[in-house]
Amino acid sequence: MASESTFLLAGLLFVAAALGYLFARYGEDREENDPEASGRLNSDYIRGLNFLLNEQPDQALEVFIRMVEVDNETLETHFALGGLFRRRGEVDRAIRVHQNLIARPNLNQEQRDQAYFALAEDYLRSGLYDRAEKIFIEFEESSKHRDASLNKLLRIYEMTHDWEQAIEIYLKLEKRGAVDGGPDQVVHYYCELAEQAKDAGNLHAAKDMLSKAIKRKADSVRAQLMEADLLQEAGEHAAVISMYSRVIHQDPRLASEVIPRIARSCREAVGESELSSILSELIAEHASARDAIALAAIRDEQIQNPVALDCVQQFAVGHPILGALIDIDHLTHEDPAVRAATMARIRTALGRIAAQSSRYSCTKCGYATMELLWQCPSCREWETVVPNQQLALAAVLS
Ligand SMILES: [Zn+2]
Repeated sequence: MASESTFLLAGLLFVAAALGYLFARYGEDREENDPEASGRLNSDYIRGLNFLLNEQPDQALEVFIRMVEVDNETLETHFALGGLFRRRGEVDRAIRVHQNLIARPNLNQEQRDQAYFALAEDYLRSGLYDRAEKIFIEFEESSKHRDASLNKLLRIYEMTHDWEQAIEIYLKLEKRGAVDGGPDQVVHYYCELAEQAKDAGNLHAAKDMLSKAIKRKADSVRAQLMEADLLQEAGEHAAVISMYSRVIHQDPRLASEVIPRIARSCREAVGESELSSILSELIAEHASARDAIALAAIRDEQIQNPVALDCVQQFAVGHPILGALIDIDHLTHEDPAVRAATMARIRTALGRIAAQSSRYSCTKCGYATMELLWQCPSCREWETVVPNQQLALAAVLS
């Protein structure tokens, strides 16, 4: 993995390459006409580079900023330096570099746009979303920066949870064939609006947004799950079981998340035997279903179904560490009371482990969380945070 020092080195190499070019150029062009200017430029660059190598970025910044007044040819080096500061998280320095460029009266329109775009990226990186948004909106009419600016605006509206604006920008980008991301993200924007409406108690608006999401993507697991949740809250237990089962069928990784919902509807209306057949069918269909059912039952004490409890037992006995700690004789004892008491102890212990382990993690960046998030807050990808398929014993044993 690239470290910060790798980025710094790459940046310095770039600056050094730019210097080489400039030395050669000024060596040819300037020495005859203006040897004094050439000497000043070279010594300034060497001083600036020296400061950077000695990790004195503020001194280096002062030298480079003064140099902009020397010659137009140094622009690209300054953009490289500003970008380098931003990537290293030194956003205040990046902002200074780019504001300094914008203040130069002799920039042409293209150079000025490039500097403004870079400044907006600095603002975005530092969380100054309103300032970044203002600049990116101005680029909506720019032929060169339009698509990149719209994609940055989309990012800002995602970060600020302004889902209506996000939908508007997404549709513009989609029309231009320039969406920088997955085709399903707009479905999530509708789902986010549905969540907001639901939280505000406006179920009609929530259903309306979910229909829009499903119209865009009929098999969206998130929209189907939300739709089923709304129906479950309304007491439509018979209808929601098949909807929940369809979600598991589409994405078996969500099984441990959905099984407690199915168990609730069976418990409240349909009956425990229906849950037994659903769980048995799941086990027959997916090899991983046993562990998912076990994890669901470990986290939800209300699940007392015999098929689910059998999965918990197998989960514990089959585990390389837990299996060695369990008294198998008690689990298979002829007295049902002994078997039940042993099982209850195992379940309580597993429940404690589960409460201390992160419940979900991002399949792309590894971000761990205790709640199901549809967008990873770390890598910003959609639908990459999924329930863990195992309990993390390390956190408990350490
Ligand atoms: Zn992630």
